[in-house]
Amino acid sequence: MTFEEVAGEVHTAISAGELSGDRVVELAVALEGLGVAVPADLDLRTLLTGFARLDTSVRTVQRDLDATALPGRLRVCAPAWGGGWLRVGYGGQASSTGFDPRRSADPLAEVADVAQEIIVEELWTSWPLCPEHGFGLHVNNTPEWVCTGTKHHVVAAVGRLGGG
Ligand SMILES: [Zn+2]
Repeated sequence: MTFEEVAGEVHTAISAGELSGDRVVELAVALEGLGVAVPADLDLRTLLTGFARLDTSVRTVQRDLDATALPGRLRVCAPAWGGGWLRVGYGGQASSTGFDPRRSADPLAEVADVAQEIIVEELWTSWPLCPEHGFGLHVNNTPEWVCTGTKHHVVAAVGRLGGG
């Protein structure tokens, strides 16, 4: 299974209220097969729900790539060098930040932030830019894309660039 396939199954199970029993173990084993570390003391439902939250955030930020015609896809990954942590990937890059599935907070702001880092490393260009002023945008905690150029202003919520 790929990360996308596992994510699809986890989202389906969560929305059907069926993330339990053998299904939890199967999906956790699938993640482990993709290089994700599964500590013995980690509740597997917590792992899967944390993974699903990360996947949702990656898809939300991907909408902003699509809306600004930035090529390529963000993805969840667990590269061999990464100690088994879930990370965000883009092109040949993966985030130096690992995502702890035990953290219950929504990772969207952090995902937007690391997406910027790995996009710069991959493409050597700032992303996204303020449509009015051309400055590189920053993410606040809301999270929103904020222009801090000549005038401090909010451009859009993360996932809503281009009015989408
Ligand atoms: Zn601006």
